[in-house]
Amino acid sequence: MTVQTSFESRSPATGEFLARHRVDSSVAVDAAVRRARVAADWWAGLGFTDRRRRLLRWKHVLVRELDGIAELMHQETGKPVDDARLELVLAVDHLDWAAKHAGQVLGLRRVPSGLLGFNLAASVRYLPFGVVGVIGPWNYPVFTPMGSIGYALAAGNAVVFKPSEFATGVGVRLVETFAEAVHEQPALQAVTGFGDTGAALCRSAVDKIGFTGSTATGKRVMAACAQSLTPVLIEAGGKDAAIVAADADLGAAAEAIAFGAMGNAGQTCVGIERAYVVDAVFDRFIERVAAIADRIRVGAEPQAQLGPITMPAQVSVIRRHIEDAIARGGRAVVGGPESVRPPFVHPVVLVDVPEDSEAITEETFGPVLVVNRVRTLDEAVDRANSSRYGLGSAVFAGRRTATALAHRLHAGMTSVNGVQSFATVPSLPFGGTRESGFGRIHGADGLREFARPQAIARQRFRSPANLLSFARTARDMRVPMLLTRSLHKRG
Ligand code: NDP
Repeated sequence: MTVQTSFESRSPATGEFLARHRVDSSVAVDAAVRRARVAADWWAGLGFTDRRRRLLRWKHVLVRELDGIAELMHQETGKPVDDARLELVLAVDHLDWAAKHAGQVLGLRRVPSGLLGFNLAASVRYLPFGVVGVIGPWNYPVFTPMGSIGYALAAGNAVVFKPSEFATGVGVRLVETFAEAVHEQPALQAVTGFGDTGAALCRSAVDKIGFTGSTATGKRVMAACAQSLTPVLIEAGGKDAAIVAADADLGAAAEAIAFGAMGNAGQTCVGIERAYVVDAVFDRFIERVAAIADRIRVGAEPQAQLGPITMPAQVSVIRRHIEDAIARGGRAVVGGPESVRPPFVHPVVLVDVPEDSEAITEETFGPVLVVNRVRTLDEAVDRANSSRYGLGSAVFAGRRTATALAHRLHAGMTSVNGVQSFATVPSLPFGGTRESGFGRIHGADGLREFARPQAIARQRFRSPANLLSFARTARDMRVPMLLTRSLHKRG
């Protein structure tokens, strides 16, 4: 059997050859992790201020190279250049936030020591794990991994990054820009290849894995990490729902939901795939959303609003979901099975789709929006929550009902009168529940995700009661018993 040592990256839109990349074996992955171990000691030793300086230098390089990276992302994934630019803008903002807030969130801080610990000074600090392995997807090849890479680095870890085989060039370029800003040690490295390279990273001596990708692969990653009890962060798939209430601004809701569903050709983990619209405004909503979907320009040319389906195998999944929905009684109000014209899929809006069809239960990952009619908002909430996924969600309603509705959704994130807006706020945690995974990137939770807490209780003076000692007497026990009985006697 011959071992594949390299692979080609090609444009999903035209098939044009772009570059050749290494397939890193487990030996190469282990070597990268060993180099990262040395870099991790140096990087952690820098402390928050010096790391912040270097991360902001990296940010500067990214901003300088923004157009070039966006162009590469466009070539490699097919997404429109402006979408790629926006992705970079958001990634830069997150890197900036992580760099500037790591010290405040993770640095040593005093905490109350409580009544029984009145003689103690209690403090907590968050230390880096060491080496973090980051496995990324192709759909947002900078923004998504940056949620792990930027926050893990800011927390003081070295990172070994395995980009998707469909976005390897972008991943490698990201690491090159880091090396330009930080020359001393390879605190960020890339290992490249297929799923086997990612699997090797899970089996290597990394101290944590930050995985973003499909739920199926997430389960394999977790199983591999279980062998060494390596902790994992899983950012997996979704089937996000939007709810539209009768008092919503219908024009704004249609505009946002159309973009949430079709943007990036629907290849968005927090893409809107289902919309539940109350009966009273259903027809008007459909009319508006259909008009927008009909106008979307699809193609490889620069003015296109939707590019190709990046991963060829996804095309048959999208086609199957559309066909299954229609076979079970759903109706296409925009497009239909004929919208699937590889490598492109033109917008599809389906209505009255049975709740047990694949277009409702499985991640479609294409520009396909299902809009179903509901009688009440309670029904909308029940249906939105009845998914095995729980990543993002959206609510469109008047001021009074919107936030209350948002609080009833079993999703990790909810946008109110907008879509995906939570992803743009660096201080908000990003992640899901159920089969969408667990753990968080972004915000203070995202920084803590890549750090281990160390608790310190320092004795300031000797306690008059010798409680944690074999020299303890019955008299020593009197005060804590008295305190407990008086302070905690009520429920
Ligand atoms: P995959 O699960 O196919 O791949 C994700 C990454 O895992 C790739 O780098 C892949 O490498 C690698 N990989 C594959 N097999 C293994 C393995 N056995 N062990 C370790 N790593 C492995 O996902 P996609 O790249 O197709 O990304 C799309 C998915 O990602 C969607 O489900 C989407 O919802 C989800 N996603 C979730 C996000 C979130 O934040 N929750 C954000 C963005 C996307 P290779 O590509 O080389 O096979």
